[in-house]
Amino acid sequence: MLPPAHSPLDPLYRRVQFLKALLWVLLFVALVLGVINQLIEGNQLLAVVHYLCLAIAVGFLVWLYWHPPAAQFIAWLTTLVIAAVLIAYTMMAAGQHYALYWLTIFPPIAYFLLGRTWGFSLSVMVIGGILIYIAQVYDGWKAAPFTMRAFGNIIIATAALIVILRHIEKTRAEAFQYLEQHSERLEYIAVTDPLTGLNNRGKLDQALSRALRRAKYEKLGCCVILLDIDHFKRVNDDFGHQTGDRILIELAQLLRSNLRATDIVGRWGGEEFLIVLPASDRQQGKMLAEKIRNTVATFVFVNDIHITISSGVACYQTDDSEQTLMRRADQALYAAKAQGRNRTITDLELDPTTDERAAH
Ligand code: GH3
Ligand code: MG
Ligand code: MG
Repeated sequence: MLPPAHSPLDPLYRRVQFLKALLWVLLFVALVLGVINQLIEGNQLLAVVHYLCLAIAVGFLVWLYWHPPAAQFIAWLTTLVIAAVLIAYTMMAAGQHYALYWLTIFPPIAYFLLGRTWGFSLSVMVIGGILIYIAQVYDGWKAAPFTMRAFGNIIIATAALIVILRHIEKTRAEAFQYLEQHSERLEYIAVTDPLTGLNNRGKLDQALSRALRRAKYEKLGCCVILLDIDHFKRVNDDFGHQTGDRILIELAQLLRSNLRATDIVGRWGGEEFLIVLPASDRQQGKMLAEKIRNTVATFVFVNDIHITISSGVACYQTDDSEQTLMRRADQALYAAKAQGRNRTITDLELDPTTDERAAH
């Protein structure tokens, strides 16, 4: 038994809506045909059959509104009732070939209400059964005149088919659209740091290797700026972790607003950020790092807090890999820390004989 349909995002929602619409249509058709048969055609037996259908439709509708979790069970019963009506109709209308046309509405209804497996099985059973039956009584069928009634039946059955298929296609399109939006959202989450909204480490790795590939093959150069907030632990200790978070968010906004569209900034981890500058040389890298450092140093953060940052700039050299480039950026950053913080050091200023990180 399936749970009640709660919202349009629920895959069952459309099925239940469809079931309700189908039952309302059944109810009105049965009512109209019942009255016509009783009062105009004088066919009391057919009138009773239609009133029975009417009672069933009303009963199912009340049941559906009163107890939504029964929706799938009612869908089954409705499909079986429709199958029974179609079987009875084609048998009663023996020889009236247009009656067979009504069979075309059954597969879409069965598929939509019961799903692929049962929709297929029941369609084959019902339609196959009717066709086998007709094959057996085939000899007795006489050509029937193409009356207005036959024409009317074909029009109504075609209209029903169009409405059903439209509903099914609408559902498919909505589900697809929902999935598309959902996967866009998942894609966003997969590459985004939740606190700052900047690119996350995974996205930075991708951006870095793409920039390095371009630097290698297009000889366009590439720099990275690795920056780290100075004495951030103190800020946390003095003002609390939440204020620390707020500062990280504000710093992220500052970084974003100081970059070109082609630059990629992200959170490398903790209070460390990485900026990838494709197609840039060391001078441009250093200038940007200094500009950001000055902006941060003069900016007033939440609670009137002032912070400074230190940066390590490293630029592509022949045969650099992501690891060698990032190692030099890291060494430059630690050199900046070791030399008193609030400064920018490039990989060119590193002394190749000492491990700056160890010195720090
Ligand atoms: P240094 O100048 O040497 O970088 O000193 P520091 O205190 O900034 O460096 P350290 O590595 O000792 O401490 C980093 C601090 O950053 C400690 C940690 O609590 C804080 N931190 C890391 N991630 C977050 C975060 O997401 N939110 C907050 N509020 N603090 C964070
Ligand atoms: Mg720090
Ligand atoms: Mg750090």
